[in-house]
Amino acid sequence: EDGVSQSTEVPKDKLLGGLLSAGFDEGSCLSRYQSVKYRKEVSHKPSSYLISRLRRYEALHKQCGPYTESYNKTLEQLKSGHYTGPSECNYVVWVSFSGLGNRILSLASSFLYALLTNRVLLVDPGVDVADLLCEPFPEVSWFLPPDFPLKNQFNQFNQESPECYGKMLKNITITNSNRLTPPSVYLHLVHDYNDHDKLFFCDEEQTFLQKVPWLIVKTDNYFIPSLFLIPSFEQELSKLFPKKDTVFHFMGRYLFHPTNQVWGLITRYYESYLAKADERIGIQIRVFDTGTGPFQHVLDQILACTVKENLLPEINREQHIIGPSGTQKSKAVLMTSLSSGYFEKVREMYWEYPTVTGEVVGIYQPSHEEYQQTEKQMHNRKAWTEMYLLSLTDVLVTSSWSTFGYVAQGLGGLKPWILYKPENRTTPNPPCRRAMSMEPCFHAPPFYDCKAKIGVDTGALVPHVRHCEDMSWGLKLV
Ligand code: GDP
Repeated sequence: EDGVSQSTEVPKDKLLGGLLSAGFDEGSCLSRYQSVKYRKEVSHKPSSYLISRLRRYEALHKQCGPYTESYNKTLEQLKSGHYTGPSECNYVVWVSFSGLGNRILSLASSFLYALLTNRVLLVDPGVDVADLLCEPFPEVSWFLPPDFPLKNQFNQFNQESPECYGKMLKNITITNSNRLTPPSVYLHLVHDYNDHDKLFFCDEEQTFLQKVPWLIVKTDNYFIPSLFLIPSFEQELSKLFPKKDTVFHFMGRYLFHPTNQVWGLITRYYESYLAKADERIGIQIRVFDTGTGPFQHVLDQILACTVKENLLPEINREQHIIGPSGTQKSKAVLMTSLSSGYFEKVREMYWEYPTVTGEVVGIYQPSHEEYQQTEKQMHNRKAWTEMYLLSLTDVLVTSSWSTFGYVAQGLGGLKPWILYKPENRTTPNPPCRRAMSMEPCFHAPPFYDCKAKIGVDTGALVPHVRHCEDMSWGLKLV
């Protein structure tokens, strides 16, 4: 046990307004109850309906989770290869796939889908999920057992697999009512999916899928915005989320609690470099250009955005000292990036010159991992640490297209300033804009009217599902 948990200060709302269940051993996952101490109190409160649905889900998970009687029974159907009638428990199996930011978003999406369809979410632990995330449901694990029959096929599943639902639809010649229900289906919801795969977002297919006990989902996307466009989910979703721009915020705070090893990385860094500042500013730099940075146009963009939007003070190149020392406000800037170049330049700037306001600006970057690595334990722990630290800042600047930034903004309840994606290695003008909401962007939404069976602009159907600030064809909740 560490000192923090014995602190005598009055605990803030440890259970986040009832979002979290009380039925956990605190020491096994310190972040679950300690995170409130590091966050500003936010105005968002979960609806009582969301809270009751989560408690109901937890009960279902306990009844149907790994190695329960119901689980074993439903597994028999899968093993036999034949659908033998409706089962007590139905499942969504989430396959670990893609970068950590993508996975956190797709996991949240899969969980909400499970909640909407009364299914139990089971998580393929991949190489690192258990090392990064605490168990979110009391008593029964969310991890898919290692002896799950289809497990060694997860890697091979793709659009062409006979188990793939889109592929099945493509091959279907018989009418809907004659279709046989399979015991399992593979749902390919990866960004490269085709028009048949995208029929997942149609009510007709949802009706069919209802009967399938096992849905195996591979996705790297935040597909929740399109769930809001499925008529049969509409009513339930608006009851769950009276404020529609809080979906990832609540799903994220409910599901994603850093394990103790990651929590140690987060809290040590926070206490050392961020805690004492008057204001904390996060700047997340993700450069999708080829070639190794740092690039001048990105540096110019960071400074143009933060100074123009008054997030960071300008420097005075003429004077050596400004203002009486010791009384100035302090700003701590947390930068994250795969490379250290931007951080070094910005830090140097605020060291070599005083600010015009007299504010003291400290610049910090926890790591520079140089390139994306997937199998290395410490690499992924640092990535999760940095997303989380960014979520603890007061003001956030993120990079376009990056799910890493989406996770930070959503967990933090922050509307970030988004740096536009540079084209042709030039600084965009304007360099950034304020996000409409804290929600992540769905990068690969369908543009299909299921009823009329024609293409449609799904970003123009309802006021709360719009095109994203950083990706014109993406969809986000506002
Ligand atoms: P996205 O590619 O920006 O949407 O974010 P993902 O998290 O899905 O994939 C990027 C991966 O690259 C991360 O998971 C990390 O492994 C790594 N990465 C990218 N940017 C950073 C960073 O600023 N810090 C660290 N530690 N890792 C990063």
